[in-house]
Amino acid sequence: MEVMRKWVQVIFFFLTNGYWNFPVTKAIYKGPLKVVCSPGLNCYSCPAATTYCPIGALQQLFTGVRMSIETGQLYIGLYVIGSMGVIGGFVGRMVCGWACPFGLFQELLHKIPSPKFNIWPFLRYFKYGLLIFMVILLPLFAIDEFGTGDPWFCKYFCPAGTLEAGIPMIFLQPALRANLGWIFSLKVFILVFFIIWAVFASRPFCRTSCPLGAFYALFSRVKLVKLGLDHNNCNHCGACHDVCPMGVRFNESPDDMECISCMSCTKVCKRDAIRLEIGGLSVSGQQKEPKSNPI
Ligand code: SF4
Ligand code: SF4
Repeated sequence: MEVMRKWVQVIFFFLTNGYWNFPVTKAIYKGPLKVVCSPGLNCYSCPAATTYCPIGALQQLFTGVRMSIETGQLYIGLYVIGSMGVIGGFVGRMVCGWACPFGLFQELLHKIPSPKFNIWPFLRYFKYGLLIFMVILLPLFAIDEFGTGDPWFCKYFCPAGTLEAGIPMIFLQPALRANLGWIFSLKVFILVFFIIWAVFASRPFCRTSCPLGAFYALFSRVKLVKLGLDHNNCNHCGACHDVCPMGVRFNESPDDMECISCMSCTKVCKRDAIRLEIGGLSVSGQQKEPKSNPI
């Protein structure tokens, strides 16, 4: 399953970054595929990106709301919210584990040999603050004299954007270097911070700071495809705790908002207590009689 997941991650990386003509054009792709919502965090301005980033699009939506109200040209952006809602309703944070290029990047960094550390669980709530303030409220209310706001998360924070768009574009278009200021320095600092952190801890950006992960997490109880726990089979051995890249204790919290459905825990559970479910029906493992507890 882990090999299959890696292949799916690689396929999604190339599906969402399929424009490899950029060294020639020295510009970002703006073709017809750019109206498609990327399931994972993948910067619109990455020169190879073929799709748009849902978090970037959501901020753009909110930056224009005040102006659209004042001009009477109401624009709700149902396409963006609808795309994110459909993806969230089907698979939720499975996107983080299977289809997000920045998640894959962090997983590869974590393979670098080093001491490994846990992440303080309380930090998981920081990403909900980023979603509420930097993606929704500040773009909506911190507006300029023309009535438009800024995409605060993209502009001041997103390390994926710095890695995929900011740094490549200053190599492709040297004229941009003249405009680099403290905002670019801040974003490079944030990127380096998360790169170093990802070597020592598993998926720190996903766990503490990704507003897209925070949005998909809202669907953890109601999503169609999810993992379920067979309470009869589980003997609370704790083996699933040790392998979880998101710090989830699955047997204690089967609908945990942090679970990215990577399925690492299904592999180590010797009692087949963790099953993949679609619409509440188990599609992996067998319905078994409760096993006798060896402890
Ligand atoms: S590994 Fe399986 S049996 Fe052990 S605690 Fe996790 S779900 Fe339960
Ligand atoms: S609980 Fe299991 S499926 Fe969910 S993130 Fe942890 S190891 Fe992956």
